[in-house]
Amino acid sequence: MTASNLAHTQPQTAFPAAPDLDESVINDFATQLRGQLLRAGDEGYEQARRVWNGMIDRYPLLIARCTCAEDVITSVNFARTHQLLVAVRGGGHQVAGHATCDNGLVIDLSPMKEIEIDPEARTARVGPGNTWGDLDRATQTYGLATPGGAVSDTGIAGLTLGGGFGWLRNKYGLACDNLLSVEIVTAGGRHLRASETENPELFWGIRGGGGNFGVVTSFEYKLYQVGPEMIFCFAFHHGEKATEALRFFRDYTATAPDEVGVLAVLGVFPPGAEAFPHEVHGLPYVLFASTYVGSPQEGERRLQPLREFSTPLVDFSGRMSYVQMQTVFDEDYPNGLRYYWKSTNLLELSDEAIGVIVEQAQRQPSPLSTTDIWHNAGAIARMDPNKSAFRGRDVPYLVSAEANWVEPGDDEANISWVRGFLKTLQPLAEGGSYLNFAGFQEEGDELMKAAFAEQYQRLVELKKQYDPTNLFRLNQNIRSDP
Ligand SMILES: Cc1cc2nc3c(=O)[nH]c(=O)nc-3n(C[C@H](O)[C@H](O)[C@H](O)COP(=O)(O)OP(=O)(O)OC[C@H]3O[C@@H](n4cnc5c(N)ncnc54)[C@H](O)[C@@H]3O)c2cc1C
Repeated sequence: MTASNLAHTQPQTAFPAAPDLDESVINDFATQLRGQLLRAGDEGYEQARRVWNGMIDRYPLLIARCTCAEDVITSVNFARTHQLLVAVRGGGHQVAGHATCDNGLVIDLSPMKEIEIDPEARTARVGPGNTWGDLDRATQTYGLATPGGAVSDTGIAGLTLGGGFGWLRNKYGLACDNLLSVEIVTAGGRHLRASETENPELFWGIRGGGGNFGVVTSFEYKLYQVGPEMIFCFAFHHGEKATEALRFFRDYTATAPDEVGVLAVLGVFPPGAEAFPHEVHGLPYVLFASTYVGSPQEGERRLQPLREFSTPLVDFSGRMSYVQMQTVFDEDYPNGLRYYWKSTNLLELSDEAIGVIVEQAQRQPSPLSTTDIWHNAGAIARMDPNKSAFRGRDVPYLVSAEANWVEPGDDEANISWVRGFLKTLQPLAEGGSYLNFAGFQEEGDELMKAAFAEQYQRLVELKKQYDPTNLFRLNQNIRSDP
């Protein structure tokens, strides 16, 4: 691999040099925190500097393991005063690895795990260090849930701030649509509450606008009665029928009720994967993964066509608990593998688009990779688009090319596959994308302008108000002076 090719396949973030901080200044900072302050060489530093994506290998100057909102205020004030680069860590699941950095301060929220549920009011107040698994287990104690992600290890924070697609999405909306309020520390170190009635413009911006405006120290969600038993369709059809399968998926989703949350996934049964019978190893598949938010009996009837499209090669469909259902994809995404995912919006799943998707999917260099097509409709589309910064509510299909591989020597082939895939699909696409599946966000302002479109300027105005110097810039970054 040439040096220029290598540069092309690394996250493009330029990190400033670490400022020269006096030992006494750092010690003073450490004594103000209730949580730990970690530096290179400290026990726990090595683990705390790493994120889920094994491509990211960064060495922060300091890691503040915050245990409360006051720790966050102290950390933000310290970073601003000493002009330190800031990274904010929730679950550490973002592909670009913005939850860590070289030479700067990581505001690590992972110790902030409090969860307070009001079963009567059907609300949950949730600390930013929780994962969806943490929250699902707590809410299901009362037979309740809020729409989250499809992998239980993902952080509630980054997923919610960027939008949040999960199994309940068409019935109850995005994760961010179910926020009732947040508490947030702004770049100036103020601790504010934002809701429909308090700082409503800030509340508009954080629902889809990511971590641009501050560090959220508490999320309040609306809950719904869900489960405990769910029906889950997990039927793998032969990949040689991929074109017909995606046409079927288009027709099925055109009339599916909001209770159905369905995903079509194109991939290959990985050779050696013990979960699958030996005879299918190496074969391409189209997986229909779906649930039904309602009675399992009715769900079985509604999801049956997804299982009967053909005789599946493998069919793991069945009833399971909501908590278990939320973990079915966990094993596919272990910490430390190399990942590069990127998405694009489609207004229509035309025959032409299906042709491109099937052809490009077949080119995946790694057997661990997949192409995911999310069907998004119902409650997502019904929400007033001006109520939150999330954009793309009228987009029924989100296509995400997800490269997952092991060897650093395969970086270029895998990243090129994803980029080539999206470039080929681009003439048929809507122009926007989902910023929680945005590769290394290497296109910078152009990516943000395309993704936020008519919302972009309003976000710039909000950035000017809450973070004019771009203290919070390791994120889906909106600059105050684009
Ligand atoms: C295995 C896997 C499965 C996924 N599945 C889904 C899915 O089903 N649906 C979906 O919509 N997305 C999904 N995603 C994408 C996911 O939404 C994003 O990766 C998201 O950024 C993860 O949030 P996090 O807190 O874990 O990430 P982190 O890497 O910790 O944070 C990402 C960014 O969010 C910001 N941030 C985090 N916490 C805060 C905070 N408290 N205050 C302010 N800013 C903050 C920061 O800018 C940070 O850089 C998945 C990702 C992975 C890796």
